[in-house]
Formats: sequence, C-alpha cells, structure tokens
Amino acid sequence: MKVRRYKNIIALESDPGRYIGFHSNSFEMAELDFDAWRAMGNVALATHEALGELDEWSQEESSEVVDIDLPNTVQALSLNIAQVCNLHCTYCAAGGDGTYGSKTPKVDVSRATEQIRYFIDKLPEGETFALKFFGGEPLLYPGAIRDIFRYTELYTAGSGKKVVYSITTNGTLITPKVAELMAEMNMTVVISIDGSAEANDRARPTTKKGPSTPLTLKGIEELLKVRDRLSSISTNSVFGSHNMDILGAYHFLKQFNLDSMGLNYAPEKNDEKLSEQYCEQMALVAEAAYAEGGLEALLKITQFSRPLKNIAHQVRTENHCGAGKTLLEADTEGKLYACNWFMGDQKEVVGQDTDIFDDIKSWQNPLIEIHGCQTCWAKYLCGGGCAFMNKVKNDDKHVKDVEFCVRTRTLYALGIKYYAKSLENELN
Ligand code: SF4
Ligand code: SF4
Repeated sequence: MKVRRYKNIIALESDPGRYIGFHSNSFEMAELDFDAWRAMGNVALATHEALGELDEWSQEESSEVVDIDLPNTVQALSLNIAQVCNLHCTYCAAGGDGTYGSKTPKVDVSRATEQIRYFIDKLPEGETFALKFFGGEPLLYPGAIRDIFRYTELYTAGSGKKVVYSITTNGTLITPKVAELMAEMNMTVVISIDGSAEANDRARPTTKKGPSTPLTLKGIEELLKVRDRLSSISTNSVFGSHNMDILGAYHFLKQFNLDSMGLNYAPEKNDEKLSEQYCEQMALVAEAAYAEGGLEALLKITQFSRPLKNIAHQVRTENHCGAGKTLLEADTEGKLYACNWFMGDQKEVVGQDTDIFDDIKSWQNPLIEIHGCQTCWAKYLCGGGCAFMNKVKNDDKHVKDVEFCVRTRTLYALGIKYYAKSLENELN
C-alpha cells in the first residue's frame, strides 16, 4: 500500500485511484483528490492550490480530540503465580523455560496479598484495580489463584473499590473445576496458542516433548461452557523465525469465534526480512478479516483494534503501555518490575514487596518523550513503542527498535485504510 506524508497529513491509496487523507494530530479523515495525492508525492509538481489546501488542513487543530494521560499510580498488578511451565516453547522469553532464571517456582500467597493490599489501599475510592495472573504457567497452582481471589474479594468488600481479574495461560490445564473458578472470578482469559496443531506443536511442545494443542483446545472447550460468566476469552499468538504463517493461524483461530485475537511479533536481532514478512502477512489478514466481517472483524484483532478504537473515539495517547506507571509486575519472590520481560535482570528491579525504588523513575515520563518520537506521524496512536522490543534489538530499553516502528506504522496505515473504507460503505 502506498503511503505519503505532508506535514501532519498522511495519505494512502485505499483502492486504485482513491486517496484517503488522515490528520495525524486530530485523527480526522477526508477523501483527497489526485492533485493533493500528487502534491504529497512530489512538492515540485504540486499546484499552488493543492499545497495551500494541504497546508491549511495540516495546521488545523481539533477541539474534539482527547489526550489520555497515564498517572503514576499503580492500577494493575501482574502476579507471577508460577515461575515454571508444563510447556517448553522454542521462543520462551521467560528464561527459556518459564522460570526467568529463578529457583522459586510458586507464588507466596501471603507475600502476594500484602502487595495487593498495599496497592489497593493507595487507589482512590471508586476506582478499579486489575489483578493479572501470569507465569510460567499460572494454572499449575490454581489453589493459589483461588486463595488470592478470596482474600482480595474479602479485603475490598464495602471499600468502594472494584477488582477485575485476568489470566494469561497456555490453556492445557483447564479442567471443569478450573473453568468454574475462572467463571466465579468473571475472568478475562487469554489463551496462548500459535495456530493449528501443525504450527503450534512445533513451537509449543510439552516438557515431555508431546503435543500441547489437543490439551489447549480441550481447555478452550471447557471455557466455552462457562462463557456467559467470563469477562472475555481471547487468544494470543506469537510469530517470528519459528513460524510466520499468520494468515493460517488467523483462519484456524477465528473458527472459535472468541472475543479477540492477538497476532504478535517476537523481535530478534537483524530481523528486517522477518519483520517485512510480518507486515505482508498482516496485510493479508486485514484483507481477509475485512472481506469476511467488515470493521467488526478487524476490531477483534488486537493489532488493529487499538488504532481503530483510538481513531473512532479521537483519543490520543503518549504511552504505548502502562509499564512502570499504572502497571507493575511481581515475581514469585515479591520483586517488582515495570514489565515481565525484564524479570531476572537485577538492574531492572524497581521494588521489593511494598518498597518502591527510585529506579522506577526511568519509566515514568511519557514514552513519546523518552523515545524521541516527536516527528513520527503515528506517535499519538502508538504512544512511543515497547521498551522490551527496544531492549531485544538495541540492548537499551529506551533506544527505539526501528523495525517495530515500520511494523507499527504499517498496521496503523492498514487500520486507517479499512476505517475509511467502512465510512465510505456507510455513506453509500
Ligand atoms: S512508531 Fe516508533 S517512532 Fe512512532 S511513536 Fe511508535 S515507537 Fe515512536
Ligand atoms: S514494555 Fe512492551 S512488553 Fe512490556 S508491558 Fe509494555 S508493551 Fe508490554
């Protein structure tokens, strides 16, 4: 897809001979004529009139657009219930085996509840706290999840504060009893699976080298039985050198008609070609999803739902995520990190139990500012990128991963294209 830029205006060819303009500050869209499109490709060929109109639009401010600021108040805590796993994924970012290099496999419930109490006490009345269960594989210890849930519910009863629960799991250990616990907790459930058995079992075997897919699919089946009492069920897939069949995964996963699917990319050093392939595959996924279900189908894919929702609601963000601002992550020993994927790196510990260190300050300015994103057209949709990806590519969490930027702008341009197409359809 051809994308052009002139100051604050982005233009793309949505269909042959049809041009969409997008204002990167106000998120407004307009159809452009060929003169404007040509002017954006080569200013020397531009008519005085076309450039004048583009200049005028570029300078326009909108009173509709809303900026989302993230406070430096912890509103979400991710707890590692287990630092051990029953799968052995080839691309595991948690130390290669779910342990993050730690010898403490299981959460200490009393330590975890002390942390929960501390952060909930600091939360203003009327607000919601998000408790996320993570690992390793958190469902190796469902009893710990149950105990933490019961404690938290009793602690917050009558406090005017609400707690919502989510879990990221490989889904292989979801028995009817576990599904019932998840339903009781009205959980948001995220299942890690990379597509059909062929692709998934290659990258995500069990520790005994057996296939994990039948177990995960059985888990999804159990969840579907209690779906009406869950907040949502989603899948999360990871692509990279181990597997690049994203379109195949999309077709396989959509048959379950879950609430959403994440089609993520795992960065590696020198991965320019792979990153390009990811963009190509995601363009095919967007085309297939839009053809089958319009904007609604695209909204079910996490990589597109973010820009689409922000454009639709005219919401600008200066932070890609809440790491170190609204979100902290605790390991099984009570050490706190801004992001799970930094666990095990002693330089990245930002707290212990309820003691928060000054090191957290390196996360607390807006990411657009820290990562020097001022000239990027996608900055208010992206919010400055991912510190983990930066670290993988550049050994420095605050030095931008250039391939991430290309992928992000490609995904957002696709989002803009299909959003504009759906507006066109509505009008016709
Ligand atoms: S795409 Fe890259 S340059 Fe643009 S806001 Fe995101 S991280 Fe910054
Ligand atoms: S830094 Fe990246 S991986 Fe970590 S929480 Fe933020 S978006 Fe996720």
